[in-house]
Amino acid sequence: MTTQQRCEERVSRQGDYWHTYQCSREAVVERNGKWYCKVHDPQYRVQKQKERDAKKPQCPKCHIKSQRWWAYCPYCGTKLQKGKIK
Ligand SMILES: [Zn+2]
Ligand SMILES: [Zn+2]
Repeated sequence: MTTQQRCEERVSRQGDYWHTYQCSREAVVERNGKWYCKVHDPQYRVQKQKERDAKKPQCPKCHIKSQRWWAYCPYCGTKLQKGKIK
């Protein structure tokens, strides 16, 4: 028999970093003895992070990945193309 695992990730409410609570989603994967839902699966998050990084604008001069909020490259001062920000 299987008991339904709950995701063990501790999450915080938006804007409230002091209080965390256990994620209420169903766990679907086990990683290193801990259970995670599909959103908190560490491998999934690494994958998502890579996708986000790929979308970050890049400085055309020094080819560093810029942060989305940078208007200018801090290294060479080139004005960066703003990506679509929702
Ligand atoms: Zn979760
Ligand atoms: Zn640059």
